[in-house]
Amino acid sequence: MNPEGRIIVLGSTGSIGVNTLEVVSHMASIGRSHRIIGLAAGRNTSLLQAQASVYQPEVVALADEEAAAGWSGPSTCLCGPDAARQLVEQVARPGDMIVAAIVGAAGLEAVLEGIDRGCDIALANKETLVAAGSLVMPAVEAAGVSLIPVDSEHSAIFQCLHGLGRGAVEIKRIVLTASGGAFRGRSRSDIVDATVDEALAHPTWSMGRKITIDSATLANKALEVIEAHWLFGLEADRIDAIVHPQSMVHGFVEFQDGSVLAQAGPPDMKTPIQYALTWPDRVEGCAQTLDWSTLREMTFDAIDHHAFPMISLGWDVIRRGGTAGATFNAANEAAVELFLCGDIRFGGISDLVTAACAELPVSNVRDLNDVRVADKAARSWVHSHVSTVAEA
Ligand code: NAD
Ligand code: MG
Repeated sequence: MNPEGRIIVLGSTGSIGVNTLEVVSHMASIGRSHRIIGLAAGRNTSLLQAQASVYQPEVVALADEEAAAGWSGPSTCLCGPDAARQLVEQVARPGDMIVAAIVGAAGLEAVLEGIDRGCDIALANKETLVAAGSLVMPAVEAAGVSLIPVDSEHSAIFQCLHGLGRGAVEIKRIVLTASGGAFRGRSRSDIVDATVDEALAHPTWSMGRKITIDSATLANKALEVIEAHWLFGLEADRIDAIVHPQSMVHGFVEFQDGSVLAQAGPPDMKTPIQYALTWPDRVEGCAQTLDWSTLREMTFDAIDHHAFPMISLGWDVIRRGGTAGATFNAANEAAVELFLCGDIRFGGISDLVTAACAELPVSNVRDLNDVRVADKAARSWVHSHVSTVAEA
């Protein structure tokens, strides 16, 4: 796999992107060199510029045209909302590895382009599968490429499955762990007016703003339940999630014979990122290791569905199928943006997303256009219902 070690990082200036480049540098230091051939970002020109001067990619991409106007080499810079996909179209060759770390459905087209070009995908961008799993998975199959999870819980399940195929009969069920986010143990009435700073204060993981808010609402776990459905070919009743505040165990696979395998490691995304890049090999890592001598306890608890109502949308979306995933994802992206801008209160996110999913119709996904239409409809539904969740 990836014999020439060519890598494209989509979303290179974000939390996963920066960690990916650290892993690439670490691997070079232990004699496993890779070549970064493309970097794509949203609008952080100065960080992209610094990355380009270190890694010397052939081409970079910036989604924001104003930000791209400030670009001054060394790589060629593509710009505009479609720039990440164009970058893949221009530089990707069969066998290349694409690290998909753009946040949101904005990453979908570039991932599909990469699959069609015969690239393996290290997938952090879970929204891609939530919105369009029914297009992405058949494309992966048809192209004969590998889709390797980067999300820590899915990396854990992938490692525990150890090559068992999607939906294998040996699997009784899988269990994803959840840190519980910033508001673990709090009641719904207690968090409904939580501030942006409170919601961004994640206890165990350091991540981008959108996924940190998703962790606080537990929408992240709902997205991950859907992501697991597509990755592992399992129906809703074979996927479960539990709270594990220490974020040391990332996932469990329970087999038909009652045996359970778990994967553990410190909460550092460099470990699953590196595994996705070296799979099926393992090489010396660069993240801190677990210190068993100081580790005192690992606890597990049921998820509070009343305080975090969006969690149940994970299973609902799998059962409804069609455009339900695109609707849920886009409504959530729109509501999180409104919260981060101060336009709605924290409790408004789940109110808007739950209502959007209940109100908007579900139809079949035949092609990308069906996903785009459902995505657009959900965003405009949320924007036109902001007043319904305005503060009293
Ligand atoms: P982030 O906000 O830190 O970074 C997002 C990156 O995407 C940035 O480089 C940004 O410039 C880029 N971007 C945004 N819009 C773009 C566009 N239209 N075109 C090109 N680039 C664009 O987010 P993150 O925390 O790194 O998360 C990235 C993805 O990985 C998300 O889907 C998230 O759910 C997933 N993920 C993140 C973590 C984590 O620890 N951060 C863990 C598991 C999964
Ligand atoms: Mg995760």
